[in-house]
Amino acid sequence: MQRIVIKVGSTSISNKESLNLDRLRGLISLIVDLEGLYEVILVSSAAISAGFSKLQLDRKNPLNRQVLSSLGQPYLMRAYNEILAEFNRFSGQILLTAYDFRSNISIKHIKLVIDELIKKGILPIINENDAVASEELIFGDNDTLSAKATLHFGADFLVILSDIDGFYDKNPAEFANARRIERVSFIEKELLKGEAKAGSEHGTGGIVTKLRAADLLLKENKKMFLASGFDLTVARAFLLENKQIGGTFFSRD
Ligand code: ADP
Repeated sequence: MQRIVIKVGSTSISNKESLNLDRLRGLISLIVDLEGLYEVILVSSAAISAGFSKLQLDRKNPLNRQVLSSLGQPYLMRAYNEILAEFNRFSGQILLTAYDFRSNISIKHIKLVIDELIKKGILPIINENDAVASEELIFGDNDTLSAKATLHFGADFLVILSDIDGFYDKNPAEFANARRIERVSFIEKELLKGEAKAGSEHGTGGIVTKLRAADLLLKENKKMFLASGFDLTVARAFLLENKQIGGTFFSRD
């Protein structure tokens, strides 16, 4: 069976000030439908949004973000587990920092745990351990973390569910005539240089970190699919029917 990593951005599963439970439910229902076809590892952001719904600290301040993440992570997992319970499933939480990917021993050990969770029918949910990550060890965005998870935890490809429904020839937020690119087999160096800036107040990342994730994967001959996290029709068709009706598919072949 193929193994995939699904990464969902904060914007896709939160409103301005709290988690969006309908979207979480849509995501979980997709993951349940994938059973039997794929083994799934979920990478989920939104701890800060979940924290902010409890305590309105200034999210621009780095220490506040760590506090909000520490406060919000249990609420994020509670939301996931309440929804998973509706489907008679549960999840296991794995919080990682860049440090965990520095040694092969640690990577091997984490993979063993993930393999075992999957074997037991428990959905592994990974997030960055923002609360303890010091500045030099912080990924800062779950795009990079999810690419590393794909490479090191035995996955065949990565699905990024984003607030944008694909990669465009220019920023669609600025240019009305921007066109979505259907397939990408190579990322030009120039595109990787841009500033990794926040696409919204929830997330850090933007398109550059998604392209960096794709670049990492393409170099190792892995694939990535970028599609909307608001409406899962395109991701559904891609994963369940092997049909690309939208999104951007990054693949060397
Ligand atoms: P998420 O929160 O889902 O991880 P981000 O908001 O961080 O996603 O990044 C996606 C944003 O990047 C889009 O909403 C869009 O405004 C911006 N963007 C800039 N250039 C492009 C491009 N060429 N193609 C697609 N999106 C782009």
